[in-house]
Amino acid sequence: MKAAVLYAPYDVRIDERADPKIEQPTDALIRMSATCVCGSDLWPYRGENPIKGPTTMGHEYCGIVEEIGGAVKSVKPGQFVVGSFATSDNTCPNCRYGYQSSCIHREWMTMAQAPVLRVPLADGTLVPTPGVPSNDLVPSLLATSDVLGTGWFAADAANVKSGSTVVVVGDGAVGLLGVLSAKQMGAERIIAMSRHEKRQTLAREFGATDLVTERGDEGAKRVLDMTKGIGADSVLECVGTQESMTQAIQATRKGGYVSYVGVPHGVEFKGEELFYTHVHLHGGPAPVRRYLPKLIDLVLSRTINPGKVFDLTLPLEEVAEGYRAMDARRAIKALLRP
Ligand SMILES: [Zn+2]
Repeated sequence: MKAAVLYAPYDVRIDERADPKIEQPTDALIRMSATCVCGSDLWPYRGENPIKGPTTMGHEYCGIVEEIGGAVKSVKPGQFVVGSFATSDNTCPNCRYGYQSSCIHREWMTMAQAPVLRVPLADGTLVPTPGVPSNDLVPSLLATSDVLGTGWFAADAANVKSGSTVVVVGDGAVGLLGVLSAKQMGAERIIAMSRHEKRQTLAREFGATDLVTERGDEGAKRVLDMTKGIGADSVLECVGTQESMTQAIQATRKGGYVSYVGVPHGVEFKGEELFYTHVHLHGGPAPVRRYLPKLIDLVLSRTINPGKVFDLTLPLEEVAEGYRAMDARRAIKALLRP
């Protein structure tokens, strides 16, 4: 089959790979309805994460189950399913505490930019929809697989509640869906930090009440000005740089909550500075599996439309253009049709 392979920084190609097969009785094979390029794929694409030789790409997926191993009980061939970028047995202690992305049997999905995907631990990883959803819902269902699940975790981990004042740092797809999630959780004021017009418009549509274009110390100062010098109850850090993390902590009120879901690159904390901020910090790879049933329901009932973050759709063969467009911030997120 044809799969997206990263050869070197800025060099992603379609290459021939062996068709996936059932390897374990707990595996399932999925015929992909859609996949996409993730903001986190840009780290290796830009050479900021080193790669050891040609590397298959992609970890966001949804599609039709084609084949299952002998031990799989909860999904059947012909069902439409969504799964997380981290596999989980959904039974170990970490899973039962709701941290399926730290399942003791976790594997990271790494070959989803392809027409067929092998999903280990299918019973604990995949969530089937009731019936095959209509085609127009596929982008939003695909979004639940990572970006919406991650944005939702960001809002949940930052303790967003009815009436909260929320700041979202980062206007990538995860940040934008953090805005949507905070709105769903009843936030009263949602301050989105963005200087990009198209993203600002989508942030507004998803529920942002205010926009801040300043960054770093200036951005944090602006939020303090807007909150009578107190800071926000909840700040969602959706980038992963030192500047964005510092900005997030500075914009939070004493005793407030900072979640961080952008994979930190070069981020360091000074213990003593952190001590006097009084903030709660909670982040990590989002336990998307915890939220999937709820998010799928919200999509199927057309309560939310997270698929709007896909502003570019390409055939899988043109995956390189998807990476280029996201790298240049010409596209928020590229959907790929295998
Ligand atoms: Zn587990």
